[in-house]
Formats: sequence, C-alpha cells, structure tokens
Amino acid sequence: MTTDFLSDWLAREHGLTGELVRLPGENENYLVTSAAGERVVAKLQRDADIAQLDIEGRAAALLAAAVPALGVPVAVPNRDGESVSRLPDGAVLRLLEFVPGTPWGEAGEASVARCRELGRVLACMARALGSLCEPAARRSHAWDLTAAEQHRDLVRLIEDDSRRAVLERAFHLFASCRPMLDELPRGFIHGDANDENVLVEGDRIVGILDFGDSLENPLVCDLAIALSYVMQHASDPLESAAHVVAGYCAERPMSAAELDVLYPLVIGRLAVTVTMCAARRAVDRDHATWFVSERTAWQTLMALAAVDPEAARVALGGDSGQPTFAPSADLDALLERRRRTINPSLSIAYREPIRVVRGRGQFLFDDRGRPLLDLFNNVWLVGLCHPRVVAAGQRQMARLNTNTRYVYDGLTDYAERLLATLPPELDTCFLLNSGTEANELAVRLARAHTGRHDMLVVDGAYHGHSSTLIAMSPYKFMGRGGTGRPEPWVHVAPTPDGYRGPHKGQGVDAGHAYGDEVGRVLQASERPIAGFVCESLFSCSGQIVPPDGYMARAFEHVRSAGGVCIADEVQVGFARVGTHFWAFSRQDVVPDIVVMGKPIGNGHPMAAVVTRSEIAGSFANGMEFFATFAGNPVSCAIGLAVIDVIEQEGLQQHALELGAHFEHGLRDLMTRHALIGDVRGVGLFLGVELVRDRATLEPATAEADDLANRMRRHGVLLSTDGPFSNVLKIKPPMTLTRGDVDMVLRLLERELDEIRA
Ligand code: PMP
Repeated sequence: MTTDFLSDWLAREHGLTGELVRLPGENENYLVTSAAGERVVAKLQRDADIAQLDIEGRAAALLAAAVPALGVPVAVPNRDGESVSRLPDGAVLRLLEFVPGTPWGEAGEASVARCRELGRVLACMARALGSLCEPAARRSHAWDLTAAEQHRDLVRLIEDDSRRAVLERAFHLFASCRPMLDELPRGFIHGDANDENVLVEGDRIVGILDFGDSLENPLVCDLAIALSYVMQHASDPLESAAHVVAGYCAERPMSAAELDVLYPLVIGRLAVTVTMCAARRAVDRDHATWFVSERTAWQTLMALAAVDPEAARVALGGDSGQPTFAPSADLDALLERRRRTINPSLSIAYREPIRVVRGRGQFLFDDRGRPLLDLFNNVWLVGLCHPRVVAAGQRQMARLNTNTRYVYDGLTDYAERLLATLPPELDTCFLLNSGTEANELAVRLARAHTGRHDMLVVDGAYHGHSSTLIAMSPYKFMGRGGTGRPEPWVHVAPTPDGYRGPHKGQGVDAGHAYGDEVGRVLQASERPIAGFVCESLFSCSGQIVPPDGYMARAFEHVRSAGGVCIADEVQVGFARVGTHFWAFSRQDVVPDIVVMGKPIGNGHPMAAVVTRSEIAGSFANGMEFFATFAGNPVSCAIGLAVIDVIEQEGLQQHALELGAHFEHGLRDLMTRHALIGDVRGVGLFLGVELVRDRATLEPATAEADDLANRMRRHGVLLSTDGPFSNVLKIKPPMTLTRGDVDMVLRLLERELDEIRA
C-alpha cells in the first residue's frame, strides 16, 4: 500500500485531504493532518476480523461516554456512514479521532498523583467495559495474559544463565496463579494499557489508545498489564505500582483473590514481553518497534527477582494488602518448638525445610509466597484446595456432620457413585478414615472369609502404620528400626521389577515369571494364607510397573491356594493411570477386595474398601462394624465432589496424555544422561531410577538425593524412594500442566549437566 494510494482513497471516499505521516508503533497507522490542522488517524489492517473491529469500536464509544474527560479513539464514519472500509487489496481501513497527549513512557518519572489517576482510569474502564459481553470477545491472542504460558517454552532461547533462571522462575510464579484466574470477576478488557497507549498531560490521564488486543479476561488483567509498564519507568517499581493499585481500589475495590494474583500476573506480562522479544529477534533482529520495551522489561524482571512474592503482594496491596500469613516465629524457632512438643519419629522433608502456608492446584506456597510445584503428592489428586471440593465440604460441614447410625442420602449416594466406577462383582462398600484403617479391614475381611490367618505381601511394600500392617510392610520391617524379618504369619513374594530382580529383562514373559514366584512362595509355606495384598503399581518399592500378566498369574496361584486377592490402590487409584480409573484394570484382573485412600478425599481423611457381597457376608457375623467418623456426611460430600471433578475436568484423559508427554521427555533425558538408568510408569505415575553404572545397576542414592534437593531450590518438589532411595517418584496432582512438565524437564537437564560436571 503506497501512501499516495491512501491519500487518493481518503480524498475520494472520505472527503479527507491532508498530509500523511506513518506513526511509530507496531500497527500500520497514519496521522492525517488537514490544511485546517484537523487530525485523524487512518488505521490499516491486513487480516482484520470485522466482528472484533466492531467490538473495538463499541468499546471505545462506551468508554468515551463513561469517562468524558478521557480521550478515546472513536471512529470517524466514511461517506456511507460506515466505520470500516474495505480497500481494493482486501485491507481494512478505519479512521479514528486523533487523541493528543504524551505517552506514559515518554512523560518522565510519574508522580504519586499520576499513578493514582492511572489506577482510577483503569478502574473506570473496568466498570465501563466489563459488562460488554460479546461472543467475539471470547478469544485469545499472543498477548492474552491468561495464556502467557504459550510462550514459556521459549525460555530456552535465552542464552544468559542468570537471565534464563529468572525468566524460568517468572513463568513458574505466573503458572502458580493460573488455577485461581478462573474464579475472578471477568469481563471485556482493553488488554494493552502499555506505555505507548496511555497518554498523559501532567498528572492527568488524557487518553487510552488501541483497543486491538481487547478481549474477555479477568478484569484484573488490565491493571496487571498497566503495572508491568509503570514499573519499567519507575525508580521504585513497587512503590509506583502500589499508588496505581491504591487509585484503582478507591474506584473499584479489589477482592483478596484479585490482589493475590496481581503480582504474579505482572511478572507474567514482563516474562511474555522479554520472551516475545527473544522469539522475534530470530525473525528480524533490526525491527524498528519490536524491541522497544526489552531493555526496561529485563531490568524490571531482574530487579524484582530479589523480591519475595509475598512481600510484593503486601507492597502492592497497600492498606488492603495485609500479609496472608504473619509468621509467629522464625523457622528455626518453630522447628525448636516442634522438637520439644512433637514426637521425634516424624521426619521433615529436604535439607532446607519448607514452611508451607497455603496451596492451590499443583502448587504449595511457602511463607515468602514462593510457589513450589508438587510433583509427588498424589493425595491432592484434583489439585490442592480445589474450590468445588472445598465448597462441598464447607457446605456440608455447616449443615450437618454425624455418623452412619443415622440415615442420610450422602452415604448411599457416594457408595453408589464409587461402585459405578468398578466392575459389577465389586458391589459392597465400606467407608473408613485412612489407608491403614482400610487395609486393616481388608485383612479382617480376608480372614473372616477364609477362616485363615496368614497373609502374603510383596517385597518393598508399605500398607499402613498399625501393628498388623507394619508386620505386613517389608518397607518398614526390613527398613530402619524394623525387626529385619517377617513374622511367621507373613509371607513375602519378590517385587515384580522388570529393571532389577530375578526376572529382569525377560520382556513379555516377566509377568508370568514373577506371578509364578507368588505360587512358589505359597508352595514353600506349610501355612495356608487368608489373602494376598498387592499394589496395582508398586509405589514405595520404587515406582514399579508390574509386567503384563503379573497380577492375573499371581491371583491364579492365590485363588487356587484358597486365598482372596486384595488390590491396594491407596496410591494409584482414581484415574491416575490414565487408561483406566483403577490401576488393576490395566492387568485385566478383578480383585476380591479393593483398598482405597489418599486421593479419595483430595486431602480430606477418608478411605474405602470395596468387595464382593459374599465376602462382606462372611464378615457380617453379628458384630457391629462402626467407626465414629467413617462415612460421615462431610466425607461423603467431599468424596462425591472429587469424583465429579475428575469426570468434569477430564482428568483421566489428561493424565494419559500429559503422562505420555512427561515420560517421553524423561526418556529423552535418559539418552543424554547415563545417570538415568530407567524411566518407567503409566499416566501420571512415573519413576526415574538413577544408577552409577548401567551395567552393574549400582544405585546412585546420593545423586538422587542431591537432584531432589537441587530441584527443590528451583521450587520443584520431588522425592526419592525404593529400596535404595535412588528412584525419583513422580505422582503429582493431576492438574499439572504441560508448561509445568516442560519446565521440570529443562531444569532436570540443567541440574543433571551440573551433577555430571
Ligand atoms: N497403602 C499404601 C500403598 C500406602 O502408600 C499407604 C500410605 N503411604 C497406606 C496404605 C496407608 O495409608 P494411610 O497413611 O492413609 O494410613
């Protein structure tokens, strides 16, 4: 498009003659100045979405009407009264009123009054535009702040180590607020109140330009975007930003939840700015407008890297920014009080202990507001503090909590719902409070049904902390403080480990071979067994996936010896494996008893045992079964909400897809790092076994511990397990995202490089 052509067109179609000058900025905008000195902006767009332009026009008009003192680029109609003209080459032309003023970025250090005024104008904007509900506004684009993670992978383009680390952490902080965004007040927002689009005159805000990035979003995003530019031009970024927030809150008070996400959103926008610059540099390193904010955005990000997120939240919140958590004592003092009052058998994770104060989604937050991505707490299946689960519990807690000697719908509703996830033979449900209680009951059921006492377990397993279950947990009795041998009534079969153990590397035959080991243990013993307890995937034993055919063959032996088969799904149940809701289904078996716990209540203490009616019948000998809290209405409401969320959020499919991506990434790491001896798992249940030598399989125990502690410093929580504590266990909340996984893979690569060096 030549300016001559445009001049002719404007004269012919708009009766507009004058001088044409291209304006700075990313868009193709021309300033047209008539002989009489009247100014209009001609805006050309190649791939314009007419519906979007229509909303932009209406948004500008609405804002102009709502805040008359504010200059807004409202449309100047053409001769046909239309605000949009189509040029012969297909481009779209709009004429907009010229808005005079100095761009924020060129106006020098902002005074308190100017900052407050910006806040006020942004709040007015939220009020005026927020309710503009338009289907066309439900869109996303490269600068959509809620979708900042679309750029996260490009962190790898940053060559400087310290910058890359800061950017990694910035996206991490942003990601940690992502689960909260969906509940915030939403509406139509401007979407780009940057240092070129906000015009000032002294302390007054006189114009807001460019509605081209407008979209439906949480309202707070407009403020966050503006703050990210205010900070780039301020000598004290947090202080200037706080004045803007104060001005905003005076006009439109923000909720605590909006204040909580504000700082992570600001950091997210800065991260997007610098990442986009890095990506664009590969396209055109001399582009006139792409890199205008790069230097100041980096400066701001690097300066803010030294600030704790909680301190920033309080600083930005002004009067309303009370600390969410005021520590009563420093960590050392708290540890000392804990040592004096709490039993010494409890352990604390990590060399540098973590003081956690809140959680959300897949993130824990420490007392400094730093997010910690939790990769191994399978209890929080649908994410920490999932709002629907929390609300279900709170509602029921406020209405009634009682026990199963009364009749209430919740108990039956929950039992029906849970049984519907299982094969029809498993038709009877018991509710309990913990995995230990549930396994205890499973043992009682097996004994009652068979009239026998002995139990068979798998090596390396943990099933609970009662006396009976410690005796049935080789993980404990063979471990530190244990007796070092099983009691006479406990029989132990080898772990069906395809990487170590007698049948390693036997491929398709390993399942049967390990299954036959169960038969061999049974034959060798003179004592008949009541039951066999087997995890469907082995967790404490080192994230081991039994080879195909294992459970079927093992169950065959147990049943022909007259025992019942118990699947302990405390760790692995509830859709985590992705392919199925229950991990035993992967092995094509139906157990006689299934034990459930941990994720069943998403952190609420709850457990269940499901069995066949004939086994439950053998147990019903007249003695009452009662546990005060088991199956209470609050637990049932929470359990129901958990199943609802798994289904409604498609978490099983998510576990399948994301788990495959994660496993693929770990296998890729294994090709470059000899320390990784094995990667295994299904869905979001994965293990990475570290060895010093791939031939001898010498366990790399110290290295595994070192790696977990290094990752903890990046805000990623991993833990080690297995008989040699050399297996990284991965079983995160199922709200984990691809962005989280890719960050973990990048950080693992870097730390493995350093460990090797
Ligand atoms: N079974 C398995 C497989 C477990 O991992 C655990 C706990 N780690 C339990 C049972 C016991 O559950 P709880 O701690 O809820 O008593």
